[in-house]
Amino acid sequence: KFPESKVLQGLPTQFFATLVNNVNAQIAAGVDVINLGQGNPDQPTPAFIVQAMQKATAKAENHKYSLFRGMPSFKEAAADFYQHEYGVQLDPETEIAVLGGSKIGLVELPLALMNPGETLLLPDPGYPDYLSGVALAQVHLELFRLRRENNYLLDYQELDPQVAAAAKYLYLNYPNNPTGAVATAEFFRQTVDFARENQIGIVHDFAYGALGATGTKPRSFLQTPGAKEVGIEMYTLSKTYNMAGWRLGFAVGNPEMIEALNLIQDHLFVSVFPAIQEAGVAALESDQKTVQKLAQLYQQRRADFEKAARQIGWEPYPSGGSFYAWMPVPEGYSSAEFSDLLLKEAGVAVAPGSGFGAGGEGYVRIGLLIDEPRFSEACERIGKLHLFA
Ligand code: PLP
Repeated sequence: KFPESKVLQGLPTQFFATLVNNVNAQIAAGVDVINLGQGNPDQPTPAFIVQAMQKATAKAENHKYSLFRGMPSFKEAAADFYQHEYGVQLDPETEIAVLGGSKIGLVELPLALMNPGETLLLPDPGYPDYLSGVALAQVHLELFRLRRENNYLLDYQELDPQVAAAAKYLYLNYPNNPTGAVATAEFFRQTVDFARENQIGIVHDFAYGALGATGTKPRSFLQTPGAKEVGIEMYTLSKTYNMAGWRLGFAVGNPEMIEALNLIQDHLFVSVFPAIQEAGVAALESDQKTVQKLAQLYQQRRADFEKAARQIGWEPYPSGGSFYAWMPVPEGYSSAEFSDLLLKEAGVAVAPGSGFGAGGEGYVRIGLLIDEPRFSEACERIGKLHLFA
């Protein structure tokens, strides 16, 4: 017998795995499923990045064990990127940690920074993988509710003072998955004040940082005065450069938190394949025109989807960023029931809001990862169910 450890048993079920299984079952049954449920960028990595990687793969020195904490050239490129994109100055040696994608860092942070039983505050709704870190590090979880009335920004006045006093770390994520909400400069200022008053470390997940929905650029948390004293930001190349399969990201900000992250990484990994880091240098040092084009593509798709949705009386939440639309569920259905109905009766897959926590109930998440005319077709099929007034 090889029983699973208690830690492993405590891990949450992977909600997207269930979703993918349900979609695949319909496809196997011959249904032409329009998949709006996923979050996997559909566009290829820009050719100049692929070429940089191919060139780097041929170099023999890149075939060896690489430096544990990443290539200096990649860290310098990441620092330059934050300087030219956000006007944020970073020391490449002490304020940047290289990661094999940001997810691994987000999951490792509670292990690196917290003791079992200490309190971590997570957003609800929120990216489900944050919960994996809670289970692995055996920390105490407190959820805070993000409300549409407050544009899915945390209202610090609402938080129980005892919970605020006990909390060690707080995760935030803007542009937000799943809602597409964006943070204001004022909200980030309040966050720094809140962190200082309660001695709470902030982890800001900036996975969709390049994808503003309105032609404006989402703010980096590190642009806020004092942010580096209280927290770090997690950046990934997955969405900015369509490099989700390559696994390359980095954390930036507070040197003590970065050091803790680097230490745990020293014990778990050797660094990311150097050829991929070299491709990352090419990406971060480029003129960012491919990124502007990508953001425009998602803006176009959002406009196309929203137009089709409004034609059937389905009114979207006005998301300010990310590649998701956040759509209300009609009265009388839970988000899971509504998602099931759409898959079975309309052949349209969406992600139920409750998969992101109780705070996501009443909504479904739509991934803008296909093109017209499929949005129109999806909405026409949904319209035939006559669910909207
Ligand atoms: N954070 C959020 C909010 C995400 O949606 C994702 C991926 O979907 C990630 C982090 C992880 O990205 P990666 O591990 O590819 O850097």
